[in-house]
Amino acid sequence: VFITLEGGDGAGKSTHAAKLEALFAEHGREVVRTREPGGTELGMQLRQILLHHPGDLHPRAEALIFAADRAHHIASVVRPALEAGKVVLQDRYIDSSVAYQGSGRDLGPDEIRSLSEWATEGLQPDLTILLDLDPEIARSRMQNEREGLDRLESLELDFHRRVREQFLAQAVAAPERYLVVDVSQPLETVAERIRSRVIELLQE
Ligand code: C5P
Repeated sequence: VFITLEGGDGAGKSTHAAKLEALFAEHGREVVRTREPGGTELGMQLRQILLHHPGDLHPRAEALIFAADRAHHIASVVRPALEAGKVVLQDRYIDSSVAYQGSGRDLGPDEIRSLSEWATEGLQPDLTILLDLDPEIARSRMQNEREGLDRLESLELDFHRRVREQFLAQAVAAPERYLVVDVSQPLETVAERIRSRVIELLQE
Protein backbone atom coordinates (compact mmCIF):
# COMPACT_ATOMS: atom_id res chain seq x y z
CA VAL A 1 0.00 0.00 0.00
CA PHE A 2 1.44 3.33 -1.11
CA ILE A 3 0.04 6.46 0.57
CA THR A 4 1.22 10.00 -0.13
CA LEU A 5 0.60 13.16 1.88
CA GLU A 6 0.41 16.41 -0.02
CA GLY A 7 -0.28 20.06 0.71
CA GLY A 8 1.26 23.48 0.98
CA ASP A 9 3.91 24.49 3.50
CA GLY A 10 2.50 24.64 7.03
CA ALA A 11 -0.49 22.37 6.35
CA GLY A 12 0.58 19.85 9.01
CA LYS A 13 1.84 16.91 6.95
CA SER A 14 4.37 15.79 9.56
CA THR A 15 1.78 15.78 12.36
CA HIS A 16 -0.61 13.60 10.36
CA ALA A 17 2.17 11.34 9.09
CA ALA A 18 3.11 10.61 12.70
CA LYS A 19 -0.51 9.79 13.59
CA LEU A 20 -0.83 7.48 10.58
CA GLU A 21 2.38 5.71 11.40
CA ALA A 22 0.93 4.88 14.83
CA LEU A 23 -2.33 3.72 13.24
CA PHE A 24 -0.52 1.25 10.98
CA ALA A 25 1.48 -0.08 13.89
CA GLU A 26 -1.83 -0.67 15.78
CA HIS A 27 -3.04 -2.69 12.79
CA GLY A 28 0.14 -4.73 12.81
CA ARG A 29 1.36 -3.37 9.48
CA GLU A 30 5.01 -2.71 8.87
CA VAL A 31 5.37 0.87 7.71
CA VAL A 32 8.12 2.81 6.00
CA ARG A 33 7.72 6.54 6.60
CA THR A 34 9.65 8.60 4.12
CA ARG A 35 9.69 11.92 2.28
CA GLU A 36 10.67 13.87 -0.81
CA PRO A 37 12.89 15.71 -1.18
CA GLY A 38 15.34 13.97 1.12
CA GLY A 39 14.26 10.35 1.66
CA THR A 40 17.74 8.95 0.98
CA GLU A 41 21.34 9.96 1.72
CA LEU A 42 21.72 11.38 -1.79
CA GLY A 43 18.29 12.95 -1.38
CA MET A 44 19.43 14.80 1.77
CA GLN A 45 22.22 16.39 -0.26
CA LEU A 46 19.80 17.32 -3.03
CA ARG A 47 17.40 18.73 -0.40
CA GLN A 48 20.16 21.02 0.88
CA ILE A 49 20.75 22.31 -2.64
CA LEU A 50 17.03 22.85 -3.21
CA LEU A 51 16.29 24.60 0.07
CA HIS A 52 19.45 26.62 0.56
CA HIS A 53 20.60 27.53 -2.90
CA PRO A 54 21.29 31.27 -3.17
CA GLY A 55 18.51 32.04 -5.63
CA ASP A 56 20.27 31.53 -8.96
CA LEU A 57 18.89 28.03 -9.52
CA HIS A 58 16.95 28.04 -12.80
CA PRO A 59 13.40 26.66 -12.38
CA ARG A 60 14.14 23.89 -14.91
CA ALA A 61 17.27 22.92 -13.00
CA GLU A 62 15.20 22.88 -9.80
CA ALA A 63 12.60 20.64 -11.46
CA LEU A 64 15.30 18.22 -12.63
CA ILE A 65 16.85 18.00 -9.16
CA PHE A 66 13.45 17.15 -7.68
CA ALA A 67 13.06 14.53 -10.42
CA ALA A 68 16.54 13.09 -9.75
CA ASP A 69 15.81 12.86 -6.02
CA ARG A 70 12.52 11.12 -6.79
CA ALA A 71 13.98 8.64 -9.29
CA HIS A 72 16.62 7.55 -6.79
CA HIS A 73 14.21 7.44 -3.85
CA ILE A 74 11.50 5.44 -5.62
CA ALA A 75 13.97 2.90 -7.05
CA SER A 76 16.03 2.41 -3.90
CA VAL A 77 13.51 2.82 -1.03
CA VAL A 78 9.88 2.80 -2.11
CA ARG A 79 9.66 0.00 -4.68
CA PRO A 80 11.65 -2.46 -2.55
CA ALA A 81 9.43 -1.70 0.48
CA LEU A 82 6.21 -2.15 -1.53
CA GLU A 83 7.54 -5.39 -3.01
CA ALA A 84 8.21 -6.63 0.53
CA GLY A 85 4.54 -5.99 1.39
CA LYS A 86 5.13 -2.95 3.58
CA VAL A 87 3.00 0.16 3.80
CA VAL A 88 4.84 3.20 2.46
CA LEU A 89 3.75 6.50 3.93
CA GLN A 90 5.37 9.29 1.97
CA ASP A 91 5.47 13.02 2.62
CA ARG A 92 5.17 14.65 -0.88
CA TYR A 93 5.36 13.00 -4.29
CA ILE A 94 4.69 13.80 -7.96
CA ASP A 95 1.67 15.97 -7.15
CA SER A 96 3.95 18.36 -5.23
CA SER A 97 6.15 18.83 -8.29
CA VAL A 98 3.13 19.35 -10.53
CA ALA A 99 1.90 22.01 -8.08
CA TYR A 100 5.21 23.72 -7.15
CA GLN A 101 7.28 23.42 -10.33
CA GLY A 102 4.38 23.03 -12.78
CA SER A 103 2.16 25.86 -11.50
CA GLY A 104 4.17 27.72 -8.86
CA ARG A 105 7.18 28.07 -11.17
CA ASP A 106 5.02 28.12 -14.31
CA LEU A 107 6.83 25.23 -16.01
CA GLY A 108 3.54 23.60 -16.99
CA PRO A 109 1.70 20.92 -14.98
CA ASP A 110 1.55 18.42 -17.88
CA GLU A 111 5.27 18.65 -18.65
CA ILE A 112 6.19 18.23 -15.00
CA ARG A 113 3.84 15.27 -14.62
CA SER A 114 5.43 13.48 -17.59
CA LEU A 115 8.94 14.23 -16.32
CA SER A 116 8.00 12.83 -12.90
CA GLU A 117 6.31 9.76 -14.32
CA TRP A 118 9.35 9.09 -16.43
CA ALA A 119 11.54 9.40 -13.31
CA THR A 120 9.42 6.91 -11.34
CA GLU A 121 8.50 4.55 -14.20
CA GLY A 122 4.89 5.47 -13.54
CA LEU A 123 4.52 4.38 -9.92
CA GLN A 124 1.15 5.71 -8.65
CA PRO A 125 -0.04 5.98 -5.03
CA ASP A 126 -3.08 3.98 -3.85
CA LEU A 127 -4.21 7.00 -1.86
CA THR A 128 -3.17 10.66 -1.78
CA ILE A 129 -4.21 12.75 1.20
CA LEU A 130 -4.32 16.45 0.38
CA LEU A 131 -4.15 18.71 3.42
CA ASP A 132 -5.76 21.83 2.05
CA LEU A 133 -5.16 25.21 3.71
CA ASP A 134 -5.23 28.87 2.71
CA PRO A 135 -1.56 29.98 2.45
CA GLU A 136 -2.23 33.01 4.64
CA ILE A 137 -3.47 30.83 7.49
CA ALA A 138 -0.49 28.50 6.91
CA ARG A 139 1.90 31.41 7.27
CA SER A 140 0.44 32.46 10.60
CA ARG A 141 0.63 28.86 11.87
CA MET A 142 4.31 28.51 10.97
CA GLN A 143 5.84 31.14 13.21
CA ASN A 144 7.94 28.54 15.02
CA GLU A 145 9.26 26.57 12.08
CA ARG A 146 12.24 28.44 10.71
CA GLU A 147 13.04 26.44 7.57
CA GLY A 148 9.48 26.40 6.31
CA LEU A 149 8.85 29.99 7.27
CA ASP A 150 11.90 31.22 5.38
CA ARG A 151 10.59 29.49 2.33
CA LEU A 152 7.04 30.76 2.79
CA GLU A 153 8.22 34.32 3.23
CA SER A 154 10.71 34.24 0.39
CA LEU A 155 8.01 33.51 -2.18
CA GLU A 156 4.99 35.61 -3.06
CA LEU A 157 1.63 34.69 -1.65
CA ASP A 158 0.51 34.39 -5.28
CA PHE A 159 3.01 31.55 -5.76
CA HIS A 160 1.47 29.64 -2.86
CA ARG A 161 -2.03 30.36 -4.15
CA ARG A 162 -1.12 28.84 -7.54
CA VAL A 163 0.33 25.81 -5.73
CA ARG A 164 -2.87 25.36 -3.73
CA GLU A 165 -5.12 25.67 -6.79
CA GLN A 166 -3.01 23.13 -8.68
CA PHE A 167 -3.24 20.60 -5.84
CA LEU A 168 -7.03 21.02 -5.82
CA ALA A 169 -7.17 20.65 -9.62
CA GLN A 170 -5.26 17.36 -9.42
CA ALA A 171 -7.68 16.09 -6.77
CA VAL A 172 -10.63 16.92 -9.02
CA ALA A 173 -8.94 15.12 -11.93
CA ALA A 174 -8.30 11.91 -9.93
CA PRO A 175 -11.08 11.70 -7.30
CA GLU A 176 -10.70 7.93 -6.76
CA ARG A 177 -7.10 8.39 -5.60
CA TYR A 178 -7.63 11.52 -3.50
CA LEU A 179 -8.87 12.41 -0.05
CA VAL A 180 -9.04 16.20 0.32
CA VAL A 181 -9.19 17.44 3.92
CA ASP A 182 -9.79 21.02 4.96
CA VAL A 183 -7.16 21.50 7.67
CA SER A 184 -8.58 24.76 8.95
CA GLN A 185 -10.85 22.43 10.98
CA PRO A 186 -9.79 21.27 14.46
CA LEU A 187 -6.85 18.85 14.46
CA GLU A 188 -8.91 15.95 15.87
CA THR A 189 -11.59 16.35 13.20
CA VAL A 190 -8.94 16.24 10.49
CA ALA A 191 -7.19 13.25 12.06
CA GLU A 192 -10.49 11.32 12.29
CA ARG A 193 -11.34 11.96 8.63
CA ILE A 194 -7.94 10.64 7.57
CA ARG A 195 -8.09 7.71 9.95
CA SER A 196 -11.44 6.45 8.67
CA ARG A 197 -10.37 6.64 5.00
CA VAL A 198 -7.12 4.83 5.72
CA ILE A 199 -8.85 2.07 7.69
CA GLU A 200 -11.19 1.58 4.70
CA LEU A 201 -8.15 1.27 2.44
CA LEU A 202 -6.54 -1.32 4.69
CA GLN A 203 -9.71 -3.40 4.55
CA GLU A 204 -10.01 -3.29 0.74
O1 C5P B 1 7.38 19.90 3.01
P1 C5P B 1 8.87 19.86 2.94
O2 C5P B 1 9.57 20.40 4.14
O3 C5P B 1 9.37 18.54 2.53
O4 C5P B 1 9.23 20.81 1.72
C1 C5P B 1 10.42 21.48 1.65
C2 C5P B 1 10.26 22.73 0.81
O5 C5P B 1 10.39 22.44 -0.57
C3 C5P B 1 8.92 23.36 1.00
O6 C5P B 1 9.15 24.70 1.40
C4 C5P B 1 8.23 23.31 -0.34
O7 C5P B 1 7.67 24.56 -0.59
C5 C5P B 1 9.36 23.05 -1.30
N1 C5P B 1 9.00 22.14 -2.39
C6 C5P B 1 9.00 22.59 -3.70
N2 C5P B 1 8.72 21.71 -4.71
C7 C5P B 1 8.44 20.42 -4.46
C8 C5P B 1 8.44 19.94 -3.13
C9 C5P B 1 8.73 20.83 -2.11
O8 C5P B 1 9.27 23.77 -3.94
N3 C5P B 1 8.21 19.59 -5.46
